[in-house]
Amino acid sequence: MLKGIGASQGYGIGRAVIIDDTPLDYSGVRYTTPDGEKARLDRAVEDFTKETAQQIAALKDSAGEKEALILEGHLTMLQDPFMLSQMKENIDGGSVAEAAADAVCNMFIDMFSGVEDEMMRQRASDIKDIRDSLLKLLLGVNSVAIEKVPAGSILVAKDFTPSMTSRINKENVAAIVTEIGGVTSHSAILARAMEIPAALSVPDATRVIRDGDELVVDGFKGEVFPTPDESLKADYAARQEKYLKDKAALAAFFDKPAKTKSGVVKQVYGNIGKAQDVENVLQNGGEGIGLFRTEFLFMDRDTAPTEEEQFEAYAAVARAMGEREVIIRTLDIGGDKAIDYLSIEKEENPFLGHRAIRYCLDHEELFKTQLRALLRAAACGNVKIMLPLVTTVDEIRAAKALLAVCRAELEKEGKPFKDAPVGVMIETPSAALISDLMAKEAAFFSIGTNDLTGYTMAVDRGNAKVKGLYDVFQPSVLRAIEMTIKNAGAAGIPVGMCGEAAADPRLIPSLVEWGLDEFSVTPTSILQTKKNICDCE
Ligand code: PEP
Ligand code: MG
Repeated sequence: MLKGIGASQGYGIGRAVIIDDTPLDYSGVRYTTPDGEKARLDRAVEDFTKETAQQIAALKDSAGEKEALILEGHLTMLQDPFMLSQMKENIDGGSVAEAAADAVCNMFIDMFSGVEDEMMRQRASDIKDIRDSLLKLLLGVNSVAIEKVPAGSILVAKDFTPSMTSRINKENVAAIVTEIGGVTSHSAILARAMEIPAALSVPDATRVIRDGDELVVDGFKGEVFPTPDESLKADYAARQEKYLKDKAALAAFFDKPAKTKSGVVKQVYGNIGKAQDVENVLQNGGEGIGLFRTEFLFMDRDTAPTEEEQFEAYAAVARAMGEREVIIRTLDIGGDKAIDYLSIEKEENPFLGHRAIRYCLDHEELFKTQLRALLRAAACGNVKIMLPLVTTVDEIRAAKALLAVCRAELEKEGKPFKDAPVGVMIETPSAALISDLMAKEAAFFSIGTNDLTGYTMAVDRGNAKVKGLYDVFQPSVLRAIEMTIKNAGAAGIPVGMCGEAAADPRLIPSLVEWGLDEFSVTPTSILQTKKNICDCE
């Protein structure tokens, strides 16, 4: 048995699909002859064409017409005689086939990414796919299209970036296993949102497990059983059945308020990463959105989303929730969330560096685009704006000043908008320690225990070696939480919690006692959290 961390509940039984993320590095490839390199290139193009044609046929069968069209577009692009002849010219100039394919594709990518037209920009990302496929074929890297794995697959990878996770088709994935990442890593958060059992931080998983191996994964304990016998499989299939049954019993809390035995009503909201997740919140009886992590809108693309695109996403959530509260967090990038096109400089200590509100305040245009989109979306529902990683009162003031500029601009342009209350995340010791002062500037608080625990304990949340110290029950973290809730209460502003600890049944009684107003949790934990609150005195 392999032991990791249980990061997303449930049991998965299926076959391993190893996701190889070998870097596409061709620096060691030796030039043969011009004809030799051209022959390699032709073979790669031929293989690419064959593979793509097969994928198109398969997709058409499974009714994925739209995706099939995209792939047909890939074929047409690569059949462009200019593209191939340009690659061959580079080979004549002394480039190995890999370098030739890379350089020519990059030239097209640069050309298409700079243009205004969205359709043309989409071509840049198509050519990126073509480039990566050609390089993989040339280098013999065995790659797996995550979105197309067969039903009953258990994905095994070193790590899942948010963009890899977002390509998962949850119907076909029985479980996820990774070598790194903890309970609060973003892959864990997304796995829970998709209700896929996950065992993370399983040492050497991609080496010990072989492609095609049968596996049983326990997402509660983080255990992985390679090549299980029939009785073990039957045992875990029964456990999965019971787990699903218990989950169904929670459905009774769907439209019940979270009311403690003494009659105090709390709000239970859901955390989301993209507009479509709102469905998940509603299906799980969520009473609002306590955290919309907008950075996911900025990922997996080549340029920042426009004001219009952002407005559409925020407004869709606001409309779907109607009168219910929607707390949208401004861009929280940096740290572990890199975005290539924002060219965030490499830093010695990215978690202590130029991230979140700090980055946004220094990139006014980017920030204003988001704030304008938020103000406009506020006119479509009950939107609140939340600032991440705040450490000083001045940061709140600066963001509010910028918001005032945006309001004046929108007013002048005659665009409909509504003012939205501005609150902050309390996720640094600094913010907790001055939460009494922050409460004078902020309309509400939301405690981000994921970061608050890390920063208070000076522990990297993804580092398995110090994971014992990453503990929300450490007295220092509990004091920071209690202090924040009490300071909010004294100032008369609402206080919520959107870190993972908000769903921790061991912590909920204390949070209720201290006076936390709102619990924002992974959509799949909403019903259980309601039940846990109802069980409190
Ligand atoms: C937190 O830090 O608790 C939080 C909710 O923010 P994120 O997990 O996105 O950093
Ligand atoms: Mg955080």
